[in-house]
Amino acid sequence: MNLSTPISQVPRVGPVYQKKLKRLGVKTIQDLLYHFPHRYEDFSNVTPIAKINANQNCSIKGKILKIEASRTWKKRISLTQAVVEDKTGAIKVVWFNQPYLVNVLKKGDSVIMSGKAGWGKDGFFLSNPAYEKISLDEKFSPTHTGRIIPVYPETEGLSSRWLRYIIKPLLAAFANSLADPLPEKVRRENDLLPIKEAIWQIHFPDSLDLAKKARARFSFQDLFFIQLWVLKERMRLAGEKSIAIPLNLDLVKRMVESLPFKLTDAQRKAAWQILKDLEKPRPMNRLLEGDVGSGKTVVAALAIINVVKAGYQAAFMAPTEILAKQHFKTVWDLLNKFKIDVGLLTGKSDKFYSRKLKNQEIEISRKKLMEKAKNGEIQLVIGTHALIQDKVKFGNLALVVLDEQHRFGVEQRAKLLHNSKGAIPHLLSMTATPIPRTLALTIYGDLDLSLIDQLPKGRKKIITKVIPPNERKSAYDFIRKEVKKGRQVFVICPRIDPSSRAKLATGQEKKGNWNEAKAVKEEYENLSKKIFPDLRVGMLHGKLPAQEKERIMRDFSAKGGSASGGKNKIDILVSTSVVEVGVDVPNATVMMIEGAERFGLAQLHQFRGRVGRSKYQSYCFLFTDSPAKKTNLRLKALIDSEDGFKLAEKDLAIRGPGDFTGRRQWGIPDLAMNALSNMSLVEKTRQTAKEILEEDPQLKKYPLLREKVSNFRERIHLE
Ligand code: ADP
Ligand code: MG
Repeated sequence: MNLSTPISQVPRVGPVYQKKLKRLGVKTIQDLLYHFPHRYEDFSNVTPIAKINANQNCSIKGKILKIEASRTWKKRISLTQAVVEDKTGAIKVVWFNQPYLVNVLKKGDSVIMSGKAGWGKDGFFLSNPAYEKISLDEKFSPTHTGRIIPVYPETEGLSSRWLRYIIKPLLAAFANSLADPLPEKVRRENDLLPIKEAIWQIHFPDSLDLAKKARARFSFQDLFFIQLWVLKERMRLAGEKSIAIPLNLDLVKRMVESLPFKLTDAQRKAAWQILKDLEKPRPMNRLLEGDVGSGKTVVAALAIINVVKAGYQAAFMAPTEILAKQHFKTVWDLLNKFKIDVGLLTGKSDKFYSRKLKNQEIEISRKKLMEKAKNGEIQLVIGTHALIQDKVKFGNLALVVLDEQHRFGVEQRAKLLHNSKGAIPHLLSMTATPIPRTLALTIYGDLDLSLIDQLPKGRKKIITKVIPPNERKSAYDFIRKEVKKGRQVFVICPRIDPSSRAKLATGQEKKGNWNEAKAVKEEYENLSKKIFPDLRVGMLHGKLPAQEKERIMRDFSAKGGSASGGKNKIDILVSTSVVEVGVDVPNATVMMIEGAERFGLAQLHQFRGRVGRSKYQSYCFLFTDSPAKKTNLRLKALIDSEDGFKLAEKDLAIRGPGDFTGRRQWGIPDLAMNALSNMSLVEKTRQTAKEILEEDPQLKKYPLLREKVSNFRERIHLE
């Protein structure tokens, strides 16, 4: 057996446990060793029985005088009772629902028990303590009791006791064969434990201090790997060739003057940075971060027109079909006076606007559209992921614009590049998710950053309120009034289907029942039949067929409300978070969010950004039944601040980095995830990674490190 031996060959790990472990991503012995506890219980003080105090963690060491099982309370609960004695006295021990214990622990056994002592009518007793037989083996050291014991996240039906029982012998067998990927110099300079020691101390620490040091080491290590990878990627890209696009100032001026509004200073600055990047013969890799409504699209359009008029092609990719279509219209409006050919390529429909056909919208076959992309006839293609699918080829692609591609990793970016011959297209990635600096430094470390930290003038502040349950009715009355005025309303629910009973059966979820989040389907029934039977209510969620989704969005977004003579067919749209990014329906003025406590601040801010896009006063109503303090803090932050970046920093502090994109998608280890909110650690690892790469760009001197970084890279997929 070695570190990469599959867990199926580990003694005592049967098929049932193999399955459970696999679900956690644990496949090999090494994975098991890296399955870390999330906290510890300190049972290291062995207390003489006579000195036990109530409500304190304690361990006792003694002999079992008596043990027996019985049933009580009309036989509903099984009870195992024992008496344990040491030199100073004896104590009663009780376990509930573990009748098998009488077969494990016998009269006369020497044992350690760890738990919290309680006070009953017969004096002190231990209830449900952890237990362990002391073996006569000299090398015996306790695993579950009488020490600081690791507590593992006990999801998926794996108990900490079982994990300790499996992991400890593996540590004994393999910890010594672990090679340390961190160069000694790095370890020394950052005061990090060597791997062999750290891996023991993180599972079975000799002191809480050492546990902390061990965790610090692994946090450092994980962040360091990410930094190395991202910086290496950055170096690699800097060595690649791209098409230099000369800056056509006259063209830029003409376009800016043609706009119906004046660009903000932030838009100018971002556009300038982008246009300067495009001039260089190596690929631009730039992230354009700007709050919802800050006007990123027009900045992208400025880059596109430069590229296209220089004789090259551009691709513009949106996360959903709805948004691709929306962009198609917007970009077309912005650029049509410059007479360029624009195509729309999505999963289903393909369109082609052509100047040769007098700016008429025509539909052509996918095959035709792809031919035109390949021979360079069509200058801008807007689309969904369909754009990077196999057969799409571009003749001379020089710029790729990505809108809200949260899952667009280094890998996918590489895929896009195959579309052009030889030269790598410049990349402009846009996001309205304001990523705090610490995170951006790491997960976007291979990108340069442009910020639009300013909204166009004259936007009205969105009135944000938390609505207590007893004011729900007046909120509905308000909504009705807005609709009668011709406005439209979003209602966001945290889930699609009603929650299952099984979930509510667990203790935690029962508390106050507030966890029962509103479901779109139920709420749609409720609003359309009971609350607003006279208004037109629609429903949107991710499980609907694409065509249905499109129809609903069309019905909702057609211009104006009915009362103002508009063409839209839906007044109130009940939806899941699918409307989160980019949807632009200026006539909507109310954003009502159910179960607001379930969303992160950044996400709530995104929802809020769906309204306030017109001259009308807009509102954001937050509904929550959660009494939790943290929730209140967050919702208050949302009311107090309109600044997406500030909110993101707060979110990071309150909830940790998990919200900034699906952490599951990244596969970043938990320790690293938590470490991401530690600014000084992020900077330290980045600095260290830089120094190492400056000295040895290929990591030739550190083969193990090089291997780890590339393994790491396979495991995680950053945006
Ligand atoms: P986002 O950054 O969220 O993608 P958009 O590009 O969709 O924002 O722009 C939001 C709205 O603001 C659009 O209707 C756009 O025409 C308008 N807009 C963009 N820039 C300005 C500006 N400088 N002044 C006024 N309106 C602007
Ligand atoms: Mg946008």
